[in-house]
Amino acid sequence: MIQTIGILGGGQLGRMMAFAAKAMGYKIIVLDPNLNCPTNKIADKQIVANYNNIDAAKELYNCCDVITYEFENVDLNVANILEVKLPQTSRLLEITQNRILEKQEIKNGGLKTVHYEIVNNANTLENFKHKYFQNPTQAIIKSAIGGYDGKSQFKIKSIKDFEKFEQESYDENIQYIIEDFIEFEKEISVVVCRNKNKQVAIFPIAENIHKNQILQQSIVPARVNNAIHEKAIQLAEHLANHLNLIGTIAIELFVYNDELIVNELAPRPHNSGHYTLNACLTSQFEQHIRAICNLPLRDTSLVSPCVMLNILGEDNYLLNTDNIKEFAYHFYEKEVARVGRKMGHINIIKNSVEECLTLSSKLINLNKLN
Ligand code: ADP
Ligand code: MG
Repeated sequence: MIQTIGILGGGQLGRMMAFAAKAMGYKIIVLDPNLNCPTNKIADKQIVANYNNIDAAKELYNCCDVITYEFENVDLNVANILEVKLPQTSRLLEITQNRILEKQEIKNGGLKTVHYEIVNNANTLENFKHKYFQNPTQAIIKSAIGGYDGKSQFKIKSIKDFEKFEQESYDENIQYIIEDFIEFEKEISVVVCRNKNKQVAIFPIAENIHKNQILQQSIVPARVNNAIHEKAIQLAEHLANHLNLIGTIAIELFVYNDELIVNELAPRPHNSGHYTLNACLTSQFEQHIRAICNLPLRDTSLVSPCVMLNILGEDNYLLNTDNIKEFAYHFYEKEVARVGRKMGHINIIKNSVEECLTLSSKLINLNKLN
């Protein structure tokens, strides 16, 4: 019987997993190098150590019945050591840590990605410079490993941008991909959970608005036609089975020419699924815990339209709870607010998406004024 769950990573996702797991009666041990991490306040115990500390990983292994990760940059050696108790598997981590492996796996599953090429010693940056001289298109260069929230990404609109990247940011020891920048119609995402018994549960599709490549709002239900809704649900089920998923994946999609293109995968609950905390019969965090503990998955039905609004470090005004007390708010107890850092989120619940959006625009404008 599972009594204690270990979480690798103590950020907001670990914290919200821990809340859900505690409500279900489990004990939580979190491994994170920072003693003041958001999960620390919820967990029964923290092992304070780096993610590549083998002794700490063994300690976690010995104290827990099952282990999960809340982010993809956990050390692979550590994940390998924990394998027996890690239902999500180190293989899924390996794939989602590296954009090249991830895109290959998406294609192996018969799904589309944007056109991309790998930049490495054999296919150097210099080659791409020539290509772009001849056929100027917009592109994004992304490091293969380690980026999040638009970090380690460089938008290339002209040869000048290219040269700037070459001079200021390019590191020949790092692998990059260069992908076509596409003018998508919409960005949407779908969170899907699956347990060892192969039961699959898919959450309603979210429409995502990014600002500076960071998620700003998720709108649910997504304002896309029924055919796109259906396609996204089928794609999620297909990918979960293809990956033999145990746990959760979030699939970020571009809607482009009425088709779905997979942008990236996250092997865990996702920011665009935070709306489920207030708007669905089951939250993505409870469902994730159920999936890794091989419990039956619960109903994911949407109870109400919702807009989720992220609160970043620079959104000081929104940190004043007087302004948001009529909405469901979630703060992560992070001690330092930095620009672009996710500090919390608000779930706005109203009878229609339009009403939710009117309120979120009000909050965004209020924030601009201050
Ligand atoms: P991460 O979320 O890991 O930082 P993403 O690849 O999801 O990286 O990029 C962040 C955001 O940048 C996307 O959600 C999207 O808004 C934009 N973006 C990324 N790649 C492309 C692309 N090829 N074309 C258009 N927009 C893109
Ligand atoms: Mg992304």
